[in-house]
Amino acid sequence: MDALVFADPAAQPLLKDIQTYLTTVVAPIANRIDQQRSLLSASLQALGNLGIFRLAVPKAMGGLGCDCRTLWHLSLQLAQTSGALAFLVAQHQSALGMILEHPEGNVAQTYLGDLMKGQVLIGVSFSHLRHNSVDLQAQPTSEGYLLRGTLPWLSGFQHMTMFVAAAPLPDQRILFALMPLINAQQAGGGILHLSLPLPLAAVPSTQTVQAEVVNWLVPPEDVVGISEADWMIVRDRQQLLRGSAAPMGCTRTSLQILAESADAKDLYHHFRDRWQRLYDQIQGELENINPPYHAQLRAAAIHLAVQAAQAALLTTGGSALMLSHTVQRLYREAMLYTVSGLNAPVRHALMEDLLLEKGSH
Ligand SMILES: Cc1cc2nc3c(=O)[nH]c(=O)nc-3n(C[C@H](O)[C@H](O)[C@H](O)COP(=O)(O)OP(=O)(O)OC[C@H]3O[C@@H](n4cnc5c(N)ncnc54)[C@H](O)[C@@H]3O)c2cc1C
Repeated sequence: MDALVFADPAAQPLLKDIQTYLTTVVAPIANRIDQQRSLLSASLQALGNLGIFRLAVPKAMGGLGCDCRTLWHLSLQLAQTSGALAFLVAQHQSALGMILEHPEGNVAQTYLGDLMKGQVLIGVSFSHLRHNSVDLQAQPTSEGYLLRGTLPWLSGFQHMTMFVAAAPLPDQRILFALMPLINAQQAGGGILHLSLPLPLAAVPSTQTVQAEVVNWLVPPEDVVGISEADWMIVRDRQQLLRGSAAPMGCTRTSLQILAESADAKDLYHHFRDRWQRLYDQIQGELENINPPYHAQLRAAAIHLAVQAAQAALLTTGGSALMLSHTVQRLYREAMLYTVSGLNAPVRHALMEDLLLEKGSH
């Protein structure tokens, strides 16, 4: 099954172009894209130029208004081809989604067209909102908002020109502010200091950094909008199932490797059947609005990706330890899916699964 099957006719030509690009250009160099920033940047830009960022935007705002089933399958296909590329596409989509939550805001009015066309690429930093003591804080002033603190995770350095930062206000509501994704100093003394790209084991070419924010003034024109205090909790609940697409895509590529191994037929059938059962379960739930057990489906998708990559590793042997090997990349991407977008319900469901497995021996 692919995104094309579910898409509105208006989106089909674009989805076809994206699929052709993924299979003919990205797939053959996916292991190099994982390691080389310039290759990842070129692929991201090419997808942007094709129009990938129009797919999720509502028709009323100039987009193609694809439904969640089409978008879930597109995420799967991206992750099946390249985890690093899928990750940065998701970052831009997330930032775009936040801007669309505030369509009357200055940022939406100024940038929406360019963001949809991929002419401006932006990252996002909001995962710190899940921490009890939030690292970044916003203070209203007569000139706008003053930001202070640290951002522990920000992907897209040297791929994207700006990012949306999320910071709680004194009344607990959340301010979303547009900031440059570059070291910067303001005339009034504000400083944005980015670390060097973190030496990551997975998706290093995404150039993920940490940032220190010292008295950064957000003027009114850079305010994306303000949301309610429970924004992160509501969002996490809505995204539980969406986050299952990438590990399911990762598993599909491990399955291709298992299928090619002459002495792993049993393993291949075992994982193919597990994938199909979980896929059917997830498909049956995509329109179901956020029941808590979606965390278990997400956890099952993550565990399946880890185990299928391990099976592919086993059948490949020592060469799978070469950084340039596809299995090596898949194993590291499965590790990424274990922690990215991690929230308390998913963490709990993952731990439960591990405890159950332990108990079954
Ligand atoms: C390569 C990479 C790139 C990333 N890029 C971005 C980015 O561009 N933008 C962005 O916003 N984020 C990004 N992230 C962050 C990512 O989405 C996750 O938020 C992060 O990996 C979770 O790990 P943590 O250590 O930050 O959180 P943790 O502190 O481990 O917390 C994760 C969740 O578990 C809960 N938790 C932790 N400890 C406990 C406990 N003892 N009991 C109960 N619950 C607990 C927390 O409340 C939270 O909900 C990136 C992460 C990685 C690895």
